[in-house]
Amino acid sequence: MTIRLISDLHLHPGAPEITEGFLHWLETRACGCDALYLLGDIFEAWIGDDLLDLAGVDPSGNADLALRVARALRRLADDGTELYLMHGNRDFLLGERFAEEAGVTLLPDPSVVAPGGKRILLMHGDSLCTLDTAYQAFRAQARDPLWQAQVLSMPLPERIALAKQLREQSGEANSNKAEAIMDVTPEEVVRVMDAQGVTTLIHGHTHRPAVHDLSVAGKAATRFVLGDWQPGQGWEIVIEEGQAPRLQHFALGG
Ligand code: MN
Repeated sequence: MTIRLISDLHLHPGAPEITEGFLHWLETRACGCDALYLLGDIFEAWIGDDLLDLAGVDPSGNADLALRVARALRRLADDGTELYLMHGNRDFLLGERFAEEAGVTLLPDPSVVAPGGKRILLMHGDSLCTLDTAYQAFRAQARDPLWQAQVLSMPLPERIALAKQLREQSGEANSNKAEAIMDVTPEEVVRVMDAQGVTTLIHGHTHRPAVHDLSVAGKAATRFVLGDWQPGQGWEIVIEEGQAPRLQHFALGG
C-alpha cells in the first residue's frame, strides 16, 4: 500500500515548470500508488468549472491548463489510483464537474481517513489560522453556498476580474501581517485534533513544511505540514503499509 499526499502546487499558466513537473510526477512517482490526496490550492485560482469550456480559446491559458490537469488525473484514476481532492483557499470554487472529469472525489475539510488502519486528520490548513480574523471572515463568506452560487452566476470575465482582485487584496493584506498570524494557531490544532480523536494531522497552506511533535489529550501526536511546490522542487507525504507518514521533497523534472 502506498498513499501520497500533496498540496499547494498553485498551478497557473505563468509557472509552466511546475505544471510540467506535476504532470511528469503523476506519470512517474504517483503512477501505481493506491491513493492520491490533493489537499488544496492545486490551482492558483479557480473561477468555476465552466472554465473547461474555454479550452483552446482562452488566451490566458488557464482553461488549457485545467483541462490538461483534469485529463492527467483521469489517466491515473483509470489506472486504479483512488483520487481525493480537498479545496484550498484559492480553488474553493472547484466543483463536481471538474471532479467528474478528473476522476477525483471531493473531500470535505476536515476529513478523517484511515489508509492502512491508522486514523489521520486531513485539512487544507487555512481554518487553523484563527488569529487572522479578517481572512476567517472572508473564508466564512466564500464557503457560503449562496455566495458561491452568486459568484458562479456572474459572466466569466467578471469572475476573472474578481479572482484577480481577491488575490491582490490577499497579497497586500498578508504583507502587513505578523508571521504568527499567518501560521496555524497551536491551541486550535490541539482543539481540532482532540475533537476528531486523532493523533496525526496532515495539512498544507502555510508553506512551512515541517513535522511537529505535540501532545493531544495527554497522547503523543504529530502534525505534518506539506510544502508548496516551486519550479524545480515538489513536496509530498508518503504513507506505506505499517509505517509512519514521511514528508519529503524531490526534484521536479519536466
Ligand atoms: Mn492555501
